[in-house]
Order: sequence, then structure tokens, then C-alpha cells
Amino acid sequence: MPANRVPRTYWDYDPTDPLRCPRCDWEGTTTAEDTQSFLDVRCPSCDGPILKISWPSTEETRAAAEAGNAAAARELTNVEAREALQAEAARIELRDVSQLPDLPDGPVAIVWDQVESDGEEWTVLRDTDGRELFRELAYWEGIDRFVEVVAVLARGFGTRLRSVTPTPTSELYLYGDQLGAPRRVDGINARLRGEEA
Ligand SMILES: [Zn+2]
Repeated sequence: MPANRVPRTYWDYDPTDPLRCPRCDWEGTTTAEDTQSFLDVRCPSCDGPILKISWPSTEETRAAAEAGNAAAARELTNVEAREALQAEAARIELRDVSQLPDLPDGPVAIVWDQVESDGEEWTVLRDTDGRELFRELAYWEGIDRFVEVVAVLARGFGTRLRSVTPTPTSELYLYGDQLGAPRRVDGINARLRGEEA
């Protein structure tokens, strides 16, 4: 009776290794289901759990790549590119309204737009005439970043800030699958107008 060789990390997991179900003694190989946080290997006979394998940390992927795992080496390239992009996004993001061109006195209305350029998606802040004021890398489901940017703008402009209005082009990235996101944007804008959300 083969005992399951329990993989310590994602990169130790070999789907061609035979498994045995601790519940019904089924033996064989099977396919894992992807979940948000782990690979779920279940028994094809009784559907009992056999293995749960967490997605790899960057450290685990780097260690496996250095040990000669070709798939880990490919994934490490992706991970490092993503991390570099995140670092770049953080480096160039809006932190203070002094990064914007001077705006005329009076109420400030900002348009939250999005453009694709150089193979990247950018959030572009515009005035209501369409003039570009600032751009930073756009985040998928970027509603939390939207809230942060509104806080930066409100800190700089105070009660002069009246609205931050997403364009239709920006909505896919801004909202993604976050069903509550449009309501958060509406609530923020109601508060900027001085209404109760
Ligand atoms: Zn089973």
C-alpha cells in the first residue's frame, strides 16, 4: 500500500505520483482543482480530500528554480516581472497634489480615465476639459487605489475637491468583479458634493 508522499511545497508536487485516498483506499493519479489559495487534490472515487497544496511563495519558487526545476524557473521570471512592475507602479504613483500642474482657483472636478500605452494600462487623471494632469499604472480592480487617490486629492484640495468621476473606459479595470465598487465611487462623490452617502 503506497503511502502518500506529501509534497512540502507546490514545486515538490508531481501530479504523476500515485496517491492513496485515506478515506476509501482508492489508489491512482488524479488532477488537482485550482482554488484561490491552494491546489485541491480530491479522491475521484469518494471526493474526500487527499492533498492541499498552497500556491508557492516567491522564496519557494526561487529555491526550486535554483534547484533546477524548469517550470519554477519560468514562473520565477513571471513573478520577478510582476514584482518589478509593482515596484515601478508604487514609485511613480500620485502621493501629493504638488505632482499635478497648477489648477485654477475654485472647485476641482477630476476625471478618472484610462489609456493603454507601451503595453501597459494607465490611470489618467484629467480636468473636465480632458487635459491630462497625471498618469500612473492602473490596477486591476483598482477601487482601493481610487479611494487612496481621492484621499490624496482631498488632502491637497480640501473642500475644493468636488468630484472624481470615472470614464466608461476606466470602469472595467476599476470595478472588475467587485460588485460593491460602483456604490463606493457613488458614495465618495456624494460626500465630495457635501451630501450624505
Ligand atoms: Zn476516496
